[in-house]
Amino acid sequence: MVAQIVVENLCKAFQVAERRPGMWGAIRGIARRTYRTVRALDGISFSIDAGELVGYIGPNGAGKSTTVKTLAGILVPDSGRCEVRGRVPWKQRLAHVAELGVVFGQRTQLWWDLPVVESFELLRDIYRVPEDRYVRTRDELIAVLDLGALLDVPVRQLSLGQRMRCDLAAALLHAPPIVFLDEPTIGLDAISKLAVRDFIKRLNRENGVTVVLTTHDMDDIETLCTRVMVIGGGKILSDGTLADLRARVTRERWLTIDLADGVTWTDEVDATVIRQEGSRVCLAFDPQVVAPAELIRRVTARYAIRDLFVENPPIETIIARLYAAESLPP
Ligand code: ADP
Ligand code: MG
Repeated sequence: MVAQIVVENLCKAFQVAERRPGMWGAIRGIARRTYRTVRALDGISFSIDAGELVGYIGPNGAGKSTTVKTLAGILVPDSGRCEVRGRVPWKQRLAHVAELGVVFGQRTQLWWDLPVVESFELLRDIYRVPEDRYVRTRDELIAVLDLGALLDVPVRQLSLGQRMRCDLAAALLHAPPIVFLDEPTIGLDAISKLAVRDFIKRLNRENGVTVVLTTHDMDDIETLCTRVMVIGGGKILSDGTLADLRARVTRERWLTIDLADGVTWTDEVDATVIRQEGSRVCLAFDPQVVAPAELIRRVTARYAIRDLFVENPPIETIIARLYAAESLPP
């Protein structure tokens, strides 16, 4: 398969004005600014095939939006290679954006004072979508994203969840084969989040659209992505399935036990207590040191219990440990 997106050793640095502490610092800063170099992208490489749904995660300031902006042709990198469907995004911008949909969760591409449907029509004209195709795509998006009641509402009157659904539609009116979604679920209520998540899934599975999804929400990642790239400090720290990511960080598994009334937990040599609340004890263990069945046998032989279950540590914990190992902020 030919990769649709190829990034090789991409670098982008920003010069940011140093802030000096205190008032004197501020005044001196006006007279003589000093600059510090931030390596937003410090040699990142990856390639993405058509039809993939890739999660792109990392702490704040990791370089996620810089990557998305470079892929979208909004930013020009300092060095390295970047091609999307054989084009260099910032050099062949018009042809590039015709095949691309981009959503930035933090800001809208809709016209604030216009009713939603008028923004859609402006986008139709900008992308020169033929009328019959426009009507078909628009009506499909209205149905799937449940936008019927929102079309005549000015964008500034929409709730965040409503606006995000309209923004998704706006980015897809020209039926691009690739979409970049930068934090599309940020700040959404639980129901809107599910709607957006469900939509992204259908877009990818049913329409075969390639999706790069930036998010802080690990449920987004777990329900949607077959592949996860973790970026930190401008470098790719991990790239693979969630199972690969887990395997890289820890083999640890958790055993949660509900003790019978009146039973007190003392200890178990091959496991460590990570949490204890009332009669519930949560243990971490390494299955290569003690097999789950053996650990359960020992525990049940020693304690009267009501219930127990074994699970993997949540993906949040895995990611937090990966950042900690790389000395990155959470
Ligand atoms: P993320 O989206 O992962 O939170 P960004 O890609 O937005 O991170 O930012 C990466 C780093 O580059 C941060 O340190 C940020 O402050 C810096 N940065 C991003 N854009 C600019 C800019 N236009 N000017 C100066 N610094 C920037
Ligand atoms: Mg960002």
